[in-house]
Amino acid sequence: MSELEGRVSPSIVDRLRAGPVLGAEGYVFELERRGYIKAGPYVPEVVLDYPDALRELHREFLRAGADVMVALTYYAHREKLRDVGREGDLEAMNRAAVRIACEVAAEGDALVAGNVCNTWAYDPDDASTARTVRAMYTEQLGWAVEEGVDFVISETNDYLGEALIALEVIRDLGLPAMVTLAPTQPDQTRDGYPYAEACRILAAEGAQVVGLNCDRGPLTMLPLVADIRQAVDCAVAVQPVPYRTDPASPTMQTLRSPTEERAFPVALDAFGSTRFEMAEFTVQARDLGVDYVGICCGAGPHHVRAMAEALGREVPASKYSPSMELHPMFRADVAARNAAFLHSWTA
Ligand SMILES: [Zn+2]
Repeated sequence: MSELEGRVSPSIVDRLRAGPVLGAEGYVFELERRGYIKAGPYVPEVVLDYPDALRELHREFLRAGADVMVALTYYAHREKLRDVGREGDLEAMNRAAVRIACEVAAEGDALVAGNVCNTWAYDPDDASTARTVRAMYTEQLGWAVEEGVDFVISETNDYLGEALIALEVIRDLGLPAMVTLAPTQPDQTRDGYPYAEACRILAAEGAQVVGLNCDRGPLTMLPLVADIRQAVDCAVAVQPVPYRTDPASPTMQTLRSPTEERAFPVALDAFGSTRFEMAEFTVQARDLGVDYVGICCGAGPHHVRAMAEALGREVPASKYSPSMELHPMFRADVAARNAAFLHSWTA
């Protein structure tokens, strides 16, 4: 059990034992679309510059049924902040992100996850980079723990080596760890471990949850998941992007427009998955034995609500779930003045 500002709620491990946990991420993409984060560097400056925008998105995911509020500390690390000249804001940004996540989580019954990600500083052939990465995770997660997170998600890991550093730091802090890999390559991490094998190693090293997040849509993500489920006894997490990747373009980075232009990262709209596709994915993932079913870059609250409802839940935003039987043109008793136009809706 974890206790935070009077809340007593089951830990992530207890919740996973009780049934699927629903995750919701993609804060960076969504806040970029809303005009609060710059595409390219993708540093979450919104945390300090427009905290209400972040608070609102957390609240939308909470109302849509997310069980976890993930603090927006993605790319809020030293290396990235230096790129945009805000290294001096590092601590304030990390602390505020966790504080905002805690605040909104308390409006419902959500857990709060601290968050670290790939740093772009790691090089498996240069041992000194491991020290740099460890120092970055240690300072970020030190602040997160002081602000009160329930567990930590280390995500979009390209290298098993970098993921293991995060896991070690999380373990040393005494928190449960969810560690997920970014499946950008066909079948293995950048340091050469098949995804299932990398997950097996992470589980053996003490991660409570292992799996995949980002880069792939449901269609090309799910086949990798069955292997991971076979390889580990611990909980498995899967958080795809809501884009229609396929065997020819297995990742969102490889999707191309009809004129062969790269769609990633700011022209992916035409490839978006519908809420119904994400609901179908949710059921498929659950049936494969996935314990933490979520969604990553590209997510909107409408996807998350459909995923929650696919798990049989009624969530606060379900109050406004579609009722097409009340649409003037789709209702059973279409008014005569509208019925005359039905042909133009079906042509
Ligand atoms: Zn993502």
